[in-house]
Amino acid sequence: MAFKPANNIQDLQYFGEFGGVNPSISDSSTYTFLSAKTMFDTFEGNADGCYLYSRHSSPSNLYLGEALAAMEGTETANVSASGMGAITPVLLQLCGAGDHIVSSRTIYGGTYAFLKNFVPRLNIETSFVDITNLEAVEHAITENTKVLYCESVSNPLLEVADIKGLADIAKRHNLKLVVDNTFSPLSISPVILGADVVIHSLTKFINGSSDTVGGVVCGSQEFINALRNVNDGASMLLGSTMDSVRAASILKNLRTLHIRMQQHSHNAMYLAEKFEADGLKTVYPGLESHPSHNLFKSMMNEKYGFGGMLTIDVGSLDKANELMEMMQDKNLGYLAVSLGFYKTLFSAPGSSTSSEIPEDEQKEMGLSDGLIRFSIGLDADIERTYKTMRTCMETLNILDPREEIIKPSKLQNA
Ligand code: PLP
Repeated sequence: MAFKPANNIQDLQYFGEFGGVNPSISDSSTYTFLSAKTMFDTFEGNADGCYLYSRHSSPSNLYLGEALAAMEGTETANVSASGMGAITPVLLQLCGAGDHIVSSRTIYGGTYAFLKNFVPRLNIETSFVDITNLEAVEHAITENTKVLYCESVSNPLLEVADIKGLADIAKRHNLKLVVDNTFSPLSISPVILGADVVIHSLTKFINGSSDTVGGVVCGSQEFINALRNVNDGASMLLGSTMDSVRAASILKNLRTLHIRMQQHSHNAMYLAEKFEADGLKTVYPGLESHPSHNLFKSMMNEKYGFGGMLTIDVGSLDKANELMEMMQDKNLGYLAVSLGFYKTLFSAPGSSTSSEIPEDEQKEMGLSDGLIRFSIGLDADIERTYKTMRTCMETLNILDPREEIIKPSKLQNA
């Protein structure tokens, strides 16, 4: 039977302490114990259901974590104050001095910077590879490798990882496959395909309101317990904890994710097809021209489509900037980083979200100056949006003006 992530979220039942339809928000940083012995046991990790201190866990954070674990099909999950607050403790929990990571070379710029510039201080090395080339991935593994790291759909190039293929490699070499699924919530379920740990930046589609940053790690009970361990857990000790009020508001937004993802995907597919037909260099996993279109299809939960992210290449950074400013001016969206908002967001990744990646490496991975990354919004009338975008592109000579279509009635009159 197909995996049904949104059903799994809906099937959870929570009540507030007075029977409210939403769980009550836990507005406390610390919790009382009826006996000193239970407090001691809780520190030892042996008092199930007891709360100790909110950096460790809180009822609101556990509710959100449970819903996200249900969505990803994992035993449990741990929410964090940001996506980076999920990624960094996972990698530091799994790797120590002398260890090695094999990572996709096209990943979010912050993750790339962490692996390239930060973890070498702790004597952790990373090999960056073309994740679509499974041979290259396997070739990069050394006896010190502990983690295979990728994004299901990569930021910003929209490369698609073969999660089953990577999971086979990980199993053969006894590695953990860690997948950042931020770009494809609901559409792709990495754990069902063999991943060990799934991470999201909740900041994006899952919360969907661009009003907070947040993150989550979904995994086995054993791994999440290890992250939260008071003695050596990276999440507990690095302290990137989500606030309960935020956890409650993200949980409420999560409940409409399935509807939003369908609309994001529908609108992105519409625009991608139009842009491609117009002759623009367009990348969208839903297009047959995408090199991993069939792979995405083979992995996806069909209902949710190919996601809300697409890119076009308009030739130069100057043109990209002009177009983005004009589109903002015409109220087609915002010139802003991030993704998953109800409005379309656009940015030129080479000079923004991927600027941590040196220019020569950007070129090598195919990240060109004229690339614009779009997070397509929930527009009710995407045809109107397209028409106005097309006019902007014609005004800036990115596309040739379309010859006016002569209506048959006019021809008859002529
Ligand atoms: N992962 C991906 C794919 C992202 O795009 C981002 C942010 O842009 C992050 C992780 C980091 O998330 P946050 O900004 O919530 O820390």
